[in-house]
Amino acid sequence: KAKETGKNKYLFFSEEMQASFNKKVEIDNLLRKALKSEGFVLNYQPIIDGNTGKVISFEALLRLKDIPISPAIFIPVAEERGLIIPLGRWVIKEVIRQLKEWRDKGLELKPVAINLSPKQFYDDNLLQYLEKKITENNLDPSLIEIEITENVLVENKDENIKVLHKLKKLGVSIALDDFGTGYSSLNYLTFMPINKIKLDKSLKDKFIEQQNIQIIGSIISIAHSLNLKVVAEGVENSEEYQELKKLSCDYMQGYLFSKPLIAEEAEKIFSRVFTGGKRSDVSI
Ligand code: C2E
Ligand code: MG
Ligand code: MG
Ligand code: MG
Repeated sequence: KAKETGKNKYLFFSEEMQASFNKKVEIDNLLRKALKSEGFVLNYQPIIDGNTGKVISFEALLRLKDIPISPAIFIPVAEERGLIIPLGRWVIKEVIRQLKEWRDKGLELKPVAINLSPKQFYDDNLLQYLEKKITENNLDPSLIEIEITENVLVENKDENIKVLHKLKKLGVSIALDDFGTGYSSLNYLTFMPINKIKLDKSLKDKFIEQQNIQIIGSIISIAHSLNLKVVAEGVENSEEYQELKKLSCDYMQGYLFSKPLIAEEAEKIFSRVFTGGKRSDVSI
């Protein structure tokens, strides 16, 4: 339902809504306009420590202001039409501005994860831009986390791995997103300079089957043996939460804890502890 699309509400995406926006040209126009007129906003979804229930960080998720179209739809269009570089820069700039605002308000800062599309690796100045923004604002670089997918290995693999090493050297941390989709070769984990893997929701959706639980458990063990932390994405109910806890999954993210929130809502839950009981116990 297209409710609550006002400025202070979160955007929900229904299939019908997406179908009506399925024209690339239309989306291209929307994106160009939004880039010119501050038409984007970031939502922040908390990531929870599986053991303590504390919020450990947030993931920044891009939204078109007041237009209910998912980034899963408009990011690929931005990539195809050469808009991802200015858009990606806007996201970096905005996350850093937000962190600074939160610091100025006296909040104890939490790291914020930024999704980077493989196409952004073609931006030669990406690193310099990020570094400049971090130093200009006197931010601890570990407050920035970069989320990449294994697609960064598809084109320009060696070059992109070099960029990742430089990012790590800069002090930002790196998470491998959407693990369990695509090829997800475990081999990647041994040579990609990453700190964390994020298990895709689709892995866990087949959870009920015992075999899948074992597979997830094995992935978590392997990740831990390589000194990587594991985040489960799309945790929607307490059964999943309990099961993942048993498997020693470090961190969790999902609607069970919170949907992506506007900044003003996100800052209210900085110090919230989620108990992980029934949904009503944890909703905010
Ligand atoms: P992602 O990075 O894997 O982000 C996780 C997605 O799962 C988000 O969708 C989030 O809202 C959704 N999600 C979180 N918890 C749950 C849950 O419990 N259940 C379900 N069903 N979904 C959950 P969103 O915000 O629509 O973003 C979709 C994708 O768009 C992201 O997937 C990411 O690949 C891309 N994206 C979003 N923001 C940016 C951005 O700033 N830059 C780039 N390059 N890509 C972005
Ligand atoms: Mg992500
Ligand atoms: Mg993901
Ligand atoms: Mg994803």
